[in-house]
Amino acid sequence: MSTVYLIGAGPGDPGLLTVKAKEILETADVLIYDYLANSEFLSYAKEGVEILYVGKKGGDHTLPQDKINELIIEKAREGKTVARLKGGDPYVFGRGGEEAEELVEAGIDFEVIPGITAGVAAPAYAGIPVTHRDFTTSVCFITGHEDPTKEKTGHNWEVYAKSTSTLVFYMGVKNLPMIAENLIKNGRDPETPVSLVRWGTRCNQQSFVSTLDKVAAEAEKLGFKAPSIIIVGGVCSLHDKLGWFEKKPLLGKGVIVTRAREQASGLVSTLGKLGACVYEFPTISIEPLDDYEAVEKAVLSLVSYDWLIFTSVNGVKYFWKQLDEIGLDARILGGIEVAAIGPATADALRDKGIKPDFVPEKYVAESVVEGLLEKGIAGKKVLIPRAKVAREVLPQELEKAGAEVEILPVYETRLSNNDPEPIRAAFKETKIHYLTFTSSSTVHNFFELISPKEFELHKDNVKIACIGPVTAKTLSEYGFSPDVQPEEYTIPALVDELVADNK
Ligand code: SAH
Repeated sequence: MSTVYLIGAGPGDPGLLTVKAKEILETADVLIYDYLANSEFLSYAKEGVEILYVGKKGGDHTLPQDKINELIIEKAREGKTVARLKGGDPYVFGRGGEEAEELVEAGIDFEVIPGITAGVAAPAYAGIPVTHRDFTTSVCFITGHEDPTKEKTGHNWEVYAKSTSTLVFYMGVKNLPMIAENLIKNGRDPETPVSLVRWGTRCNQQSFVSTLDKVAAEAEKLGFKAPSIIIVGGVCSLHDKLGWFEKKPLLGKGVIVTRAREQASGLVSTLGKLGACVYEFPTISIEPLDDYEAVEKAVLSLVSYDWLIFTSVNGVKYFWKQLDEIGLDARILGGIEVAAIGPATADALRDKGIKPDFVPEKYVAESVVEGLLEKGIAGKKVLIPRAKVAREVLPQELEKAGAEVEILPVYETRLSNNDPEPIRAAFKETKIHYLTFTSSSTVHNFFELISPKEFELHKDNVKIACIGPVTAKTLSEYGFSPDVQPEEYTIPALVDELVADNK
């Protein structure tokens, strides 16, 4: 027997999905979702899942509610587990109740997974607790957009106005003048603090505080539109004192990450935590080689090498994959010195149980050579597992210094076949503030996907951030120079530099 899950996806911050919701998303056969639900959740779905978008934007229904209900029932009758994802909480102005009733009538099992509703989360992210002992004893969730086909209003403005409740209006921006007027007319103090929070909990969150008599004009002036939550009550006076989210150093800044998807997660999540709107645009994809015969041979003759130098996390990953396939593990490296060219690579080695014998102080090939020479690498036999095509500085310099170097390609990087259209659109809408490059190949491949001429059109709005001088040099081949570049050539230093650029 199939089950339909009515799932609350939360207000937008991808971290505000419940653990239970994630579990269901990972196993459902069909995923039916709405406009406001964060599309990032789709990535949790299992392979082969059927994904159906039934969202609505304002009054413009993609699929009418009765058709949505029919669709859910149809999928359930096919014996499939259906995850019906809705923004916020499914039972708070989400028509989840109606969907559940239909399911009962159709004799289909269902469960509800509540979500974090925007009416609580958006204020919280804007520094407004919806209840607070100094201000109010109750909170009231109100729709600012009643069913237009209803003959008699369900609103009792007198009760709203006379109560001391915090009033939280959903879908109310269009009707804000009417809402404010009705409350004042029925006796609420025109000086009552009111706050609007737009796109609450997301990287593009905006909010302001005003008073009941001025809020409509102010919202209009600031261009506040849906989706916004309107909060009326004394608690709004805490907005400035308790506001925290909008203080994030990169809030609202659009940042393009061009690293390969396999490598980007750390950078993407750090930028996200700092409030940036991250646009993942992997220009490179990391691919296994067609043939691993050479790697297998090298692994089996490891004892003949003195040094093993890893230049990337992927080098570690694919080298170990081969070890694993042959049935070997870290013990085979017992007699060999191991070096990592950077801190992330060193961490990847530690994860495999190897404490690197050498990690350079500065993270470029040149300083690796210097450090290794001090370690006495001259005259030694060195193996470098790495990408098929990479910079030759390290092997060349080591050879010059008298080492016997062998390069072992263990993976290759290819131009990612990413669709550049969403990035093009974001450039045009001036949503992008930073373009980040973390290696020369990200530069080459980015300009392969978006021509330098096209990028030039947007350059005035966009700053380029490069991880180091080598990448910056490659960038100059395309006629650009970096606006942001850290002193240390690491991802954390690059992020720090972006933050500093916003101070
Ligand atoms: N079920 C949802 C509400 C759906 S009604 C929930 O529980 O949150 C849609 C309205 O919710 C929007 O018009 C807006 O008023 C509000 N809303 C949803 N997400 C929001 C967000 N991130 N920021 C501000 N308001 C939001």
